[in-house]
Amino acid sequence: MRMPLIAGNWKMNGSLALVEEFGRAFADISLPVNVEVALMVPFPFLEAAGRALGETSVTVGAQTLSDRPSGAFTGEVSAAMLRECGARLVLVGHSERRTLFGEDDAAVLARVRAALAEELTPVLCVGETLEEREAERTEAVVLGQVEAVFDALDEAERARLVVAYEPVWAIGTGRTASPEQAQAVHAAIRGCLARYDQTLADGMRLLYGGSMKADNAAELLAQSDIDGGLVGGASLKVDDFLAICQSA
Ligand code: PEP
Repeated sequence: MRMPLIAGNWKMNGSLALVEEFGRAFADISLPVNVEVALMVPFPFLEAAGRALGETSVTVGAQTLSDRPSGAFTGEVSAAMLRECGARLVLVGHSERRTLFGEDDAAVLARVRAALAEELTPVLCVGETLEEREAERTEAVVLGQVEAVFDALDEAERARLVVAYEPVWAIGTGRTASPEQAQAVHAAIRGCLARYDQTLADGMRLLYGGSMKADNAAELLAQSDIDGGLVGGASLKVDDFLAICQSA
């Protein structure tokens, strides 16, 4: 059985006041016990989020990390620092990092390794652009991004990842992949993982991301290979995010 994971990605949004609001709201309700909930907040809010959500089952995570352990890398944040500030998960290879900050597959792999070295769970984000989908290259692109990381890891390391499929054309656009489109890519990713090891494929949590909202979450999450969601915009409102968690 794969425990569903709903992870909110605040991106460069939110405030300490919003952290407190989430802390109060989540303390007052009982989250479904069979769902893991995480909030990936901006670096400066990590410690406050850990405190505010400390009495709840919500896990705190970060949105990126340096590939280096320490040193003269002004502005960078290491995996050990994230861990010390309470992060337990970290997004790696989000499409905004790939396109806006030039992170290629090698950079993504280096960050996955850095996260694993500090016992953080890397949430590896993969996804195709609209152009690639229209050229019928979705599987080639997505599986290529998966293999660029999984080929380089050993068996024990692979099992520690979570994979998020996020079609780039659906992120922040209000345009969601249909449940069938998302399921097809998730099944292809699981098939790709089975080529490494069937147990790995059976146990790997595959999240869908791309304009997931309270009103479309249930049918996406009902697909057999969708084990949760990576939620951007809708994770900034307590009620919307809670509704998605409750659909899982
Ligand atoms: C994301 O940032 O990972 C994301 C899926 O954003 P949104 O839900 O806003 O499309």
